Amino acid sequence: MEFQLNEEQKMLKKMVHDLAEKEFRPKVAEWEASGEPIAHEYFKKLADLGLLGLPIAVEYGGQGRTAFEAILAIEELARVSGLCAGPVFETSVGPVRVIEQFGTEAQKQKYIPPACRGESWIAVAMTEPEAGSALTDLSTRAVLDGDHYIVNGMKRFVSGGGQADVYMTYVRLSEQKGAKGIGGLIIEKGTPGFSFGKQEQFMGMRGTPSCDLIFEECRVSKENLVVKEGDFRKLMTAFDLERCGNATMCLGIAQGALEEAMAYSQQRKQWGKEICEFQAIQFMLADMALKVEAARLLIYRATVNVAAGLPVPLEANLAKCFANQMVREVTGLALQIHGGYGYSKDYPLERLFRDGWGWGVAGGTIEMQKITIASFLLQRRFDQRR
Ligand SMILES: Cc1cc2nc3c(=O)[nH]c(=O)nc-3n(C[C@H](O)[C@H](O)[C@H](O)COP(=O)(O)OP(=O)(O)OC[C@H]3O[C@@H](n4cnc5c(N)ncnc54)[C@H](O)[C@@H]3O)c2cc1C
Repeated sequence: MEFQLNEEQKMLKKMVHDLAEKEFRPKVAEWEASGEPIAHEYFKKLADLGLLGLPIAVEYGGQGRTAFEAILAIEELARVSGLCAGPVFETSVGPVRVIEQFGTEAQKQKYIPPACRGESWIAVAMTEPEAGSALTDLSTRAVLDGDHYIVNGMKRFVSGGGQADVYMTYVRLSEQKGAKGIGGLIIEKGTPGFSFGKQEQFMGMRGTPSCDLIFEECRVSKENLVVKEGDFRKLMTAFDLERCGNATMCLGIAQGALEEAMAYSQQRKQWGKEICEFQAIQFMLADMALKVEAARLLIYRATVNVAAGLPVPLEANLAKCFANQMVREVTGLALQIHGGYGYSKDYPLERLFRDGWGWGVAGGTIEMQKITIASFLLQRRFDQRR
């Protein structure tokens, strides 16, 4: 078992660290205040440095590196801002990977290279108003009519909604209930019958648009079918890696919060001395470091094993669930160490706290993760309907 990064990994980590500090940190407050999606030039910057599609095959415009290296890059970027880690997430552990794993050759050639060049944004649309945690209840229906599917239904909370160019959309392909009837279609923005609802006003993750997708008699070529009916369960391997990415967003945010708290506790003086000299503050810092390091180890282990194709969904679930809880605790402690200043928008803590919270809902809630973990432990399936 290796617990050291190799030279290439260290170089990548340093390069992304320097990029995040020099190029992105000076912009974070501005992005937060405006709430606008980050400009395309930053997507291009990430692409030019070879950070988009890190584990995607070179023939599709990716970098042909490991999923673990993508995780290292996401961690370093999220330490400064989850917003600038987003494009690396989408192209390395998110929907682009699903197209690479399950798509046809034509789909891969058409959709992956522009995403890896930072020219096109691919979002994922699963959740519906009546199907959140009970995802397999989804009812957006796609009916084959000649060479096209006719899609009707609605998706909710789609990150990138309205801004993304392409939507990896999960639909019901037949009357079969549950996971069996579900498949996945690529639906492009601008397709007649496809429109957007109003933008969500989320408490955090400002700059990441989110909205409903509305499909009304939307005609989608049958060539756009990526996940066939009955293959939904096979997607779990792709979702395991996405879970590691979700956990890494939490890790980066928490690491950023820990560093802010360490610096602040050595500057701020009360009672005539730096607050880090009070044992209560030392304990908080130590607790934060314990949790951050434990999350890091869980994530690194799960990512390396998932990418090696090992059957480790439990490890991915443990990593996500732990990191989702950890980021809430660590950003909360960092905020507390900042006293009233932590509660002020003049300091980054309240942003890190708000951004960190969302990851324990996105991609499956903490509670659903725990049910899955218990199922693996006990080797039993717990039907939530009965
Ligand atoms: C920041 C953010 C980004 C997102 N991005 C996307 C995206 O890009 N694409 C997309 O499709 N979706 C996205 N989502 C949606 C997300 O996946 C759902 O919000 C999530 O799966 C929960 O569904 P829900 O909101 O309907 O909550 P519900 O399922 O209604 O859950 C409400 C509460 O009940 C609990 N609960 C539900 N069932 C059980 C059970 N059986 N046992 C115990 N507790 C239970 C839940 O844990 C939760 O606490 C995003 C959400 C957020 C917040």
